[in-house]
Amino acid sequence: MLLETVIGLEIHAELKTKTKIFCSCSTEFGAKPNENTCPVCLGIPGTLPVLNEEVVNLAVKAGRAVNCKINNYNKMDRKNYFYPDLTKNYQTSQYDLPMCVDGKVIFNYEGKEVSVRINRIHIEEDAGKLIHLEDEPVSLIDYNRAGVPLVEIVTEPDLRSPAEAAAFMRELKGILEYAEISDCRMDQGSIRCDANISLRPYGKKEYGTKVEIKNINSFREVQKALEKEEKRQRELYEFGEEHKIKQETRRWDASKAKTLTMRSKEEAHDYRYFPEPDLTPIIIPQEKIDKIEATLPELPIERRARFVADYNLSEKDASIIVGNKTLAKFYEEVVNLGANPKTVSNYILGVLLRLLNINNMEPEDIKISPKNFVDLIKIIEEGKISNTAGKEVFKEMFETDKSPEEIIKEKGLIQISSSDEIEKLVDEVLNENPKSIEDFKNGKTQAVGYLMGQVMKASKGKVNPPLAKKMIEEKLKNM
Ligand code: ADP
Ligand code: ZN
Ligand code: MG
Repeated sequence: MLLETVIGLEIHAELKTKTKIFCSCSTEFGAKPNENTCPVCLGIPGTLPVLNEEVVNLAVKAGRAVNCKINNYNKMDRKNYFYPDLTKNYQTSQYDLPMCVDGKVIFNYEGKEVSVRINRIHIEEDAGKLIHLEDEPVSLIDYNRAGVPLVEIVTEPDLRSPAEAAAFMRELKGILEYAEISDCRMDQGSIRCDANISLRPYGKKEYGTKVEIKNINSFREVQKALEKEEKRQRELYEFGEEHKIKQETRRWDASKAKTLTMRSKEEAHDYRYFPEPDLTPIIIPQEKIDKIEATLPELPIERRARFVADYNLSEKDASIIVGNKTLAKFYEEVVNLGANPKTVSNYILGVLLRLLNINNMEPEDIKISPKNFVDLIKIIEEGKISNTAGKEVFKEMFETDKSPEEIIKEKGLIQISSSDEIEKLVDEVLNENPKSIEDFKNGKTQAVGYLMGQVMKASKGKVNPPLAKKMIEEKLKNM
């Protein structure tokens, strides 16, 4: 049976505010447990919340960045549940009147345009963190995260494959980073994703029963978890047992690479939502929305198009570079200093990203200064060192903050371009290889390649290859 995969995502992103949503505690990550708390975010009876205006500003910015309509009148609601990650027994969130609705994100994936509708974006408070100790019958609670502002971004079920869903996550992360709405540090949990997936026979209009997967904390895992769940559902369809797919919440266990039943799906009424009586409705005048919108910077989709147009990059290369804000900035700094855009992208994609990867580093950790990068490219283009030596210098620049000149001197990498020196090497090699000369005379032109190899070896790779090749060919012809 031909089945179509249907995916919708619910993404939580922590907003980049200095203080929490309803109190003035710091939002900083990495503080000592429970250091960033006060009676308000600990939910002590008798305390009252005050809405942080910066939360509204950033959520409106997020809304406009993904083309949402902003509800000029919206309000907070209580979502009631009993769990010690929030002491109040409810989460202050938004229910029937969220801040932003009806948006759209358009991006390129594998050469085709994908359009994903955004159902809504609402603001809410994050919960504390429970730490379950393995060997002791107790759990610990850290409330530093309780009250950190979040936006929950809910897509329509418009994604059609796990890979497409991961690509969307990357795009959204890029938007939130470029617009400085969230740090999007997945490793610190500042962006998290719940993924909903169902299958349906091709051509069928109604969606199938969806399963929600929670607890996914990296892009790679989003895709992996969805692929696993897709396979599980597909197998049930293939055995005619699709009725066994129950609407439920499954937990992704990354170490087992499996989704496991967590609970049957809760319904909205389980949460007994009702309007938050301690906060007034949020009224956002149109002028304020316009003002915030005017602060939106160039977003990934626009920057990608500009990189393709201005720097002649392929759509794919531009996507990789623009995919990380720091990398894109670095790229432009180097190019603006006068380097050839294509050469720079080749170095970034071919050498720099690999070095980052091997060393488990992020573009934020790049130490090479744009000036040194440009100098190196010029040195290679002038033929002073070979391409191979260039890569070696680049690697050294990556690890230290030395200039290319310094490294070249230290390593003795200057390329031999003087014809006298090259001639000496070529003569030596020819003397030692009479057989190759014979071969060449008998029409075996590949002998040139072999002799080139010998010259390169004799010079420890320092000879300028085109010059050496030309000289070998001339000498052979005149022999
Ligand atoms: P619920 O009522 O369970 O909260 P919603 O309609 O609010 O469901 O949707 C929650 C998320 O699930 C959204 O991201 C939405 O795109 C996605 N979703 C809804 N129906 C399906 C489906 N049949 N298959 C996959 N995802 C779905
Ligand atoms: Zn507090
Ligand atoms: Mg819902």
